[in-house]
Amino acid sequence: MKLSFHGADRGVTGSCHMLECAGKRVLVDCGMYQGSRELDEENAEAFGFDPAEIDFVLLTHAHLDHCGRLPLLVKRGFRGEIIATAATRELARIIMLDAAHLEEEEARYQLRKSARHGNHKHIEPLYSTLDALNTLENFGRTAHYNQMLTLAPGLRAVYLDAGHILGSASIVVYCEAGGQRRSVAFSGDIGNAGRPLLRDPVVPPKVDVVVMETTYGDRLHKALAPSVEELYDAINATFKRGGNVIIPTFALERAQELLFYLRTGVLQEKLPGSMQVFLDSPMAISATKIYKRHPDCYETATAQLFREGEDPFDLPGLHFVQETAASMALNRLTGGAVIMAGSGMCTGGRVRHHLKHNLWRNESSVVFVGFAAEGTLARRIIDGAERVTIYGEEIPVRAKIYTINGFSAHADRDELLAWHRRIQPARTFLVHGEAEVMRQFAARLEDTVVDMPERGQRFDV
Ligand code: ZN
Repeated sequence: MKLSFHGADRGVTGSCHMLECAGKRVLVDCGMYQGSRELDEENAEAFGFDPAEIDFVLLTHAHLDHCGRLPLLVKRGFRGEIIATAATRELARIIMLDAAHLEEEEARYQLRKSARHGNHKHIEPLYSTLDALNTLENFGRTAHYNQMLTLAPGLRAVYLDAGHILGSASIVVYCEAGGQRRSVAFSGDIGNAGRPLLRDPVVPPKVDVVVMETTYGDRLHKALAPSVEELYDAINATFKRGGNVIIPTFALERAQELLFYLRTGVLQEKLPGSMQVFLDSPMAISATKIYKRHPDCYETATAQLFREGEDPFDLPGLHFVQETAASMALNRLTGGAVIMAGSGMCTGGRVRHHLKHNLWRNESSVVFVGFAAEGTLARRIIDGAERVTIYGEEIPVRAKIYTINGFSAHADRDELLAWHRRIQPARTFLVHGEAEVMRQFAARLEDTVVDMPERGQRFDV
């Protein structure tokens, strides 16, 4: 059996790993590189294998850095079967279509720019909406948690709930060929235990080889309960001052989780019942609708809410803001509103308009609830910038800035170590983490041979 690595190699994005066994080639994930212009450009490079020769793609979850290069794979000749859980398939659909739309817009922008400079070079998007739609045709069987799937003679796989986002999975592949038996567990992204929405991550059984994520392999998260209280305090204090609360948010998982906590806060009378909440993100609205279609994916108490006809993502003052004009109308609200909008790192999207209209006001607040990479607008505000430039206008930062760290959708160092310890693999490949984080994490692993593969490296296992 051979394992090779084609993304998320000493970095957190672009997950793509290949398993060769029983005469088949299996990819686990085919994600996009994200975070900087250089990384964006890497998406267009060769995969390091021939897409036409891949038989299966096993998709762990719908985040862009795990499914975002699937349409490119199809565009370049992949004709095999993509297997995912039902929720992942639905979420991946909107993620891939949105990515295609952004790629098309970027290509049009570059084309206009080069035309202005007298160049008429050929510029085409990484992939188009049509490529994304074609990719949907390659989704075959639906994976159900804990049910063994036969891919080919001697090749089987089982999806286990990873508790990271709706539909997310760790995938264990079993291979028997030439009198040899091997098992490999791919962690996907591992979630947190003890969350109110999703079930706890299921740890795979003992296997020979583990390929695991290490996003937070060097740190521990703050507890969730105090973070939720901190969110309530931030909202109440802001309303007292007569301002708005702007929450830059990721469309998948974080937005739904926040809706759930806001609803709970109102029910427990920790937040005012008259509070007006605006989810100002068409993508987050679509994702929330998909979240409501999969009550089977939730932790017991939340699943019970669905059974009782309750909607855990609804609250009295909630508004879904689809149209651009309705989004712009929010600029006239001076106080008493919670506005959730993307992008989470404020690199684009509607949140930039809300920042422009609220950052300069003493009475408003901006609450950051997610990761903010170096170089992003979110990072500059978090780091205490006194002025920022938004749409060419310099805006003084007078609003109160909160950074609440307990909402991560990723397991922390100790949870990752516990996950690994229970599997006891002879061999471990670390992926999906910064190089330095991986080194620190590797030093804590015991009784296993550890590799931190580079792009294109191939191993006999
Ligand atoms: Zn993820």
